[in-house]
Amino acid sequence: MLLADQIITYQANSDLLRERIILVTGAGDGIGKAVALACAAVGARLILAGRTVAKLEQVYDLIAAAGQLEPVIYPIDLEGATADDYDQLCVSIIDQFGHLDGLVHSAGILGQRTPLNNYRQDVWDRVLQVNVTAQFQMTQALMPALEKSNDGSVVFTSSSVGQVGRAFWGAYAVSKFAVEGMVQVWAAELEGLGSVRVNAINPGATATSMRAQAFPAENPSDLKTPDQITPAYLYLLGGHSSEVNGQSIKAQAR
Ligand code: NAP
Repeated sequence: MLLADQIITYQANSDLLRERIILVTGAGDGIGKAVALACAAVGARLILAGRTVAKLEQVYDLIAAAGQLEPVIYPIDLEGATADDYDQLCVSIIDQFGHLDGLVHSAGILGQRTPLNNYRQDVWDRVLQVNVTAQFQMTQALMPALEKSNDGSVVFTSSSVGQVGRAFWGAYAVSKFAVEGMVQVWAAELEGLGSVRVNAINPGATATSMRAQAFPAENPSDLKTPDQITPAYLYLLGGHSSEVNGQSIKAQAR
């Protein structure tokens, strides 16, 4: 495994993910969009998953305009999707591509920034559904397609507040602790069994809509852009990390 400072400056070869099939959730915006574009730029065929089709179409157009492998758009709302929807997604992927090489969970919601004593139950349920339960269900359903890859990689997106509890981060912090735990359990269960690995990335402060919602007074130009944190994702999706399993790595020094 590379050292932390090597991961954040990792430079992918132009064919790192050549013809690998990579599904990214939240691919229409923020970090997911940047990761999808970075993967396409190094040869991957993208399955762009998300809930706002117009945003996914913009990403599709950027990839097509760059002359990269034509992506597929897969609209899905992680709040309402059922186990059957995820099973159908797996069937579609196997029918169309035969396997899945990478699954990046970037979709997420912030919920309320308020004390747990005042936290609304409906917001709690939505945050846990989108940030944890849907990601568990999708990963479980797609495992047969990942197991057909020679080098299957699942990358969850965590957060600093999923490692050390912080006041007023509510269900979001709890959901990211759950993601860290899910990665460890899944990785331990898969260790030595086949070719699928499961890891997490903590992006660190990154200029996106979610960050602006969490810190409205902050100047986004003081932050890393989503593009700048993609090296860690590329590293975990490509062959240089094939022995890395169960890790939670930082995408930037901050
Ligand atoms: P973002 O710009 O708000 O993007 C979130 C993405 O998730 C959007 O594409 C959004 O789709 C999608 N999404 C939300 N709810 C969904 C649902 N029900 N079904 C399907 N897709 C849904 O946020 P971001 O900052 O890029 O966050 C990406 C990941 O990084 C999240 O897991 C977040 O917790 C994590 N993270 C971010 C930071 C940071 O500083 N930005 C730091 C630590 C961790 P729409 O575009 O349709 O709304």
